[in-house]
Amino acid sequence: MAEKKGFRAAVAIPLMLVCFLIGVAAGFIGAAYLTYNESSDVFTDGDVQIHFLELGNKYAGDCIYIKAGDNDILIDAGSRTGSVPTIKNYVDQYCEDGVLEYVIVTHAHQDHYAGFATSENEDSIFDLYETEVIIDFSMTNQKSTSYMYSNYIRERQDEIDAGAVHYTAAQCIESGKSVFELGDGISMTILDSYYYYNESDTENDYSVCCLITHGDRNFLFTGDLEEDGEERLVEMNDLPEVDLYKAGHHGSKTSSSQALLQVIKPDYVAVTCCAGSPEYTDTAANQFPTQQFIDYIAPYTDKVYVTTLCVDYDSGEYTSMNGNIVFISGTTLEVVCSANNTLLKDTDWFAEARICPDAWK
Ligand SMILES: [Zn+2]
Repeated sequence: MAEKKGFRAAVAIPLMLVCFLIGVAAGFIGAAYLTYNESSDVFTDGDVQIHFLELGNKYAGDCIYIKAGDNDILIDAGSRTGSVPTIKNYVDQYCEDGVLEYVIVTHAHQDHYAGFATSENEDSIFDLYETEVIIDFSMTNQKSTSYMYSNYIRERQDEIDAGAVHYTAAQCIESGKSVFELGDGISMTILDSYYYYNESDTENDYSVCCLITHGDRNFLFTGDLEEDGEERLVEMNDLPEVDLYKAGHHGSKTSSSQALLQVIKPDYVAVTCCAGSPEYTDTAANQFPTQQFIDYIAPYTDKVYVTTLCVDYDSGEYTSMNGNIVFISGTTLEVVCSANNTLLKDTDWFAEARICPDAWK
């Protein structure tokens, strides 16, 4: 199932030293951007850059912008329609031609597709960019009459009429067009998933899952796929160990199952959520990122980053935790966050709200 990283033991110590030095350097760079010149927070190096965006509100939601070779890729555009200007301002720092070569819409939940599903008199991501290829979910429980879903269908059709090529994830698999070459040694693979073809009680399971590969590095994105879907994902794909895993379902206890983690053994994890928010539950341990998620992930890595922190949900107050989380894959793999590079386990929120697992002590 898993391969790569055969070099581990022999180079572990020098590698740790290099990682430490990179970490220190990245910390300096991150601090410099924040303190002195926020507008210079634009990365020009790295063959692949993966950006987990803060979305400018108190809600959990996904929007992942990826620069891979000459390709601009957007996975989701949550978390509310009001996030569209935030997303545009961010993406325009990197995407200069107004073209998104690939847009992936994982599933029909507001916190993932709101930015594609605006009303007719509001700009959607599809209105603001020319999209070449749209890959989206094959299944949904949304009714065609639902306001947001019908907006999505209209906005998507407008983009198709303007020239975008559209595949559902199932069509990618069934037509054998599931691997997209993005540049020298860079590819994107739409993974196969049981719930591309079968009904589920939860919309989350319909999530489009993809793997981006850069040389021997792997980056995994599973949307909000839940435990049963993850188990089937492992069965249906020859998943490698991954350098980066986007925490499934915002660090919910319904995802990041042992079945998945023991195969992918992530080195880094990015959680897109508003930490400690009661958006979905008042049970503190189950608020994102959940205690179970932390316990499950801890044996593999302590390099867990979280976009946003909930300060006061009722008043709508939130602040950056790591902020925008950026992974730069060039000669090395670096992490630079817009607010700070503090690991989740070293944050004040973690000390107050979570029980530290043994692996992190
Ligand atoms: Zn979600």
